[in-house]
Amino acid sequence: MSRTLRLLFAVGFLSLAVPASAADYNRPPDYRPFSGYTLIHAGTLLPVPGEAPADRQTVIVREGHVIAIEDGWIEQWSGDAEAPVRVVDLSDKFVMPGFIDLHVHLLSQSGGDRKGEFVERSDSYFALQGSQFARWTLEAGFTTVRDLGARGQAIFALRDGVRDGLVPGPRILAAGQAITPSGGHGDIHGYRTEILQALPALGTCDGSDDCRRAVRQMVKRGADVIKVTATGGVLSETATGTGQQFTQEELNAIAETAHLLGRKVTAHAHAKEGIEAALRAGFDSIEHSMWADEGTMELFLETGAWMVPTVYPITAVGDTPEKMKAGPFGNLPPPVMEKLLQLGRQPKDMVALAHSMGVKVALGTDSAVSPHGENANEFIEYVNAGMTPMQALMSGTVHAAEATGIADQTGDLQPGKAADLVGLAANPLEDISAVLDVRFVMRDGIVFKHLENQE
Ligand SMILES: [Zn+2]
Repeated sequence: MSRTLRLLFAVGFLSLAVPASAADYNRPPDYRPFSGYTLIHAGTLLPVPGEAPADRQTVIVREGHVIAIEDGWIEQWSGDAEAPVRVVDLSDKFVMPGFIDLHVHLLSQSGGDRKGEFVERSDSYFALQGSQFARWTLEAGFTTVRDLGARGQAIFALRDGVRDGLVPGPRILAAGQAITPSGGHGDIHGYRTEILQALPALGTCDGSDDCRRAVRQMVKRGADVIKVTATGGVLSETATGTGQQFTQEELNAIAETAHLLGRKVTAHAHAKEGIEAALRAGFDSIEHSMWADEGTMELFLETGAWMVPTVYPITAVGDTPEKMKAGPFGNLPPPVMEKLLQLGRQPKDMVALAHSMGVKVALGTDSAVSPHGENANEFIEYVNAGMTPMQALMSGTVHAAEATGIADQTGDLQPGKAADLVGLAANPLEDISAVLDVRFVMRDGIVFKHLENQE
């Protein structure tokens, strides 16, 4: 090191009052909105799914929000004259609000040694792994996700890191650990007693008062939403089936406590009795809803609760015994395989029944069961189940935002909403599979993907 350089280093470290060009303590995070106006030229724009799209539109974005939508492709914006203006050319794209998935598990991917992961990997490792899956999900067009179950604190760190612009990812609403009864679907199981005692089971509770405590502690830890395992689940190895696990009284206490703390509450539920108990308790939504029948659908209609069906994972792991045994889940332990083989076409038939009866459906995939980044296949499942392409798009935009209580922030592109939008190569209203070809992604006014025009 030269004398001059050594001197500069000494000066830089010692005299903090001098504005040193070499030491920039105020360097902003990598992912932040453009300082001026962004004028997005859309070939076709669907600002509010459910309403008609329009050709040759400009979306004007500033400080992460949509401020106006104008007819034609405008090049200038008469606002703050000092602010720079940039044009994003999506003149050959179909532009619409970013997609929303209400059911993911961002920290891990199923199909591997899931059980070993929990005792071998640190929380920090899960945060790093989750940041990769978050980026894949964002690049698939999902600008908001709801994470419905993750151990430890990593999911909250990932949520906050994305929010603060440290890592790319969708906006995350996180449940933390699911609220579950002892021995239930969400409880830790399958290890020798000493290991179980060492692993914290923060969401586990028994009895109404204990369950109120568990909900309150999850909110204290940072939960944006409360996830509850009302029934058994397919992938747990407890040989307890998929029937109701929490009592009606426990579910009532959980829903009331969540609502008193201003949180939506959603139930993982397969068995009809468990779905109906959660609906009666006043849950805002039901995940999976696997064995819901006509009577269950009537109760959905009566309570106004949302259904989040998660159809695609069953297609991904195999919807026939042959496909399932040959697929990534082919080597599961017998009690799990038995439950998985019962599913078959049931999710597809169930969502078709729900839609035909007018039950409100919001999109969710349970990604982690299906691969992260393949979330948009869920739109295609809903069209196959009888929805029009427009109805399917609504389920993963305006309806998902409403179901999870963030319709004032995102879900459509009206002025004042977050600038969360995607550019597709083709029109999904003509062919829904266009949702799989995402060429442009903006979240909160930040461009994360632009295939034709790398930035
Ligand atoms: Zn799940």
